[in-house]
Amino acid sequence: MVSMADAASKTAYDVVIIGGAIMGSATAWFLTENHFDGSVLVIERDPTYTACSTAHTNSCIRQQFSTELNIRISQFGAQFVKNLRGYMGGDERVPELGIQSYGYMYLADTDAFADALRAAQKVQLAAGAGTRLLTAQEIAAEYPFYAVDDIVLGSINTVDEGYWDGGTVFDWFRRSARERGVEYVHGEVVAITKSAAGDRITHVTLASGKTIACGQVVNATGPRAARTAEMAGIDLPVEPRKRFTWIFKAEAPLDRELPLTIDPSGVHFRQDGPDTYLAGCKPDPDPAVDPTDFAMDHGLWETHVWPIIATRIPQFQAIRVVTEWAGHYAYNTLDHNAIIGPHPQVENLHFLNGFSGHGLQQSPAMGRAMAEWLTHGEYRSLDMTPFGYDRVARGEAFVERAVI
Ligand SMILES: Cc1cc2nc3c(=O)[nH]c(=O)nc-3n(C[C@H](O)[C@H](O)[C@H](O)COP(=O)(O)OP(=O)(O)OC[C@H]3O[C@@H](n4cnc5c(N)ncnc54)[C@H](O)[C@@H]3O)c2cc1C
Repeated sequence: MVSMADAASKTAYDVVIIGGAIMGSATAWFLTENHFDGSVLVIERDPTYTACSTAHTNSCIRQQFSTELNIRISQFGAQFVKNLRGYMGGDERVPELGIQSYGYMYLADTDAFADALRAAQKVQLAAGAGTRLLTAQEIAAEYPFYAVDDIVLGSINTVDEGYWDGGTVFDWFRRSARERGVEYVHGEVVAITKSAAGDRITHVTLASGKTIACGQVVNATGPRAARTAEMAGIDLPVEPRKRFTWIFKAEAPLDRELPLTIDPSGVHFRQDGPDTYLAGCKPDPDPAVDPTDFAMDHGLWETHVWPIIATRIPQFQAIRVVTEWAGHYAYNTLDHNAIIGPHPQVENLHFLNGFSGHGLQQSPAMGRAMAEWLTHGEYRSLDMTPFGYDRVARGEAFVERAVI
């Protein structure tokens, strides 16, 4: 862990980013990349980062979304990951990364679901993705370990889709941003103060009692985003929702890589290490939880997850869990999608929230977009306007059908 100062060196900054995990750090780094002409402070309540979403992620990337914008966002994510060193100015300390492209295998067991996969594939192909639709027989031929009796259609893309090393990208966003002059401070924002007219944030207050004046503020507080917005008197439809992960070993490992398989039940599982696999699912019911609640539901594996895996892959009758954890999505209850950009009335308050289950892969594109807005007052690469807070205010969902 790189140490973090307990006090900021100044009392005012041009940009204050609340939350220094992958979204806050991506924004900070892209600000330096844009040669942002101003001071930047990242305020982080937990310098160990042990409780944040970024620390509990499954770190996968896909192009199988149903909307072009989400596909483009992940395509930039893939380019960024594969060219991390180049983006970081050719710095030889930065490792060369790749994507373990075993693909996501969506399995449809109804005609309606199959139609949704067909419709999404059209959008994906038009955006340049390599998605293939497979009949049950074709799935069985390529991946003989699946039981496909109930399957109508499968959809898979093995180009830039699979696992990537999110931890390393996060480390380098942070490390490089700091080396280029961004200041990080250990502290918890407990209050946000608006101007008398209520149209600007003037300063934030830390738990230590110190105040920091700000030109612009970014809410990058993950599952705590609604609490942060509430400090400014603003409603944000983002809740901490628990998601479970299990790493397991199989007595008889598969003879080829296991795609990230989205079973029709909603349980998903994929290759992890050379002889380990990862499974994930949500609780049912799926309430908002306290962001400090990391308790596992130990019964869920035995009663729900393992039977589903063993039915879909009979070779996985004999498997054993080697580790498990619970983490939190910053779950956007309106439409599971990002909320990015300024508040319509409090214009120097910017959201970078609600990424639900796909924020890690979106961090390069979202960090770049947020930095463009802060630097130029407009998006210059990908237009993120459809993800703006305005739709939240209007209650209009940005419909993305491929949600995990
Ligand atoms: C189990 C699981 C699996 C996932 N799998 C994937 C996947 O395969 N692919 C993918 O793309 N995404 C995945 N995600 C989602 C992804 O991990 C998140 O969207 C992403 O990490 C969000 O990053 P963030 O920086 O917005 O939030 P976080 O990582 O939660 O960071 C928020 C930071 O803000 C800080 N903070 C909060 N409040 C304050 C305050 N008041 N003052 C100061 N600091 C504060 C916190 O300490 C924290 O460090 C998964 C998530 C989970 C939980």
